[in-house]
Amino acid sequence: MLPLSAKRFIVALCRNCGEPRVIRMPARSFMCFKCGLRNNVSKSKLIGMTDDIDEAAHLARKFKLGIF
Ligand SMILES: [Zn+2]
Repeated sequence: MLPLSAKRFIVALCRNCGEPRVIRMPARSFMCFKCGLRNNVSKSKLIGMTDDIDEAAHLARKFKLGIF
């Protein structure tokens, strides 16, 4: 279990379509922009966490491009 409260932003994947989303913590759930599914943060796959919003956005973009 990752310490979700340790960082300000996390990058999580939608469990339905795999779309990465930057989420401002603390949050329990988030809505996927692509398919509209409401995801539970604790059940989602996290690909990164950071205190820097730009770094979080960069991580999400890299993942979408398949570089991650
Ligand atoms: Zn989705």
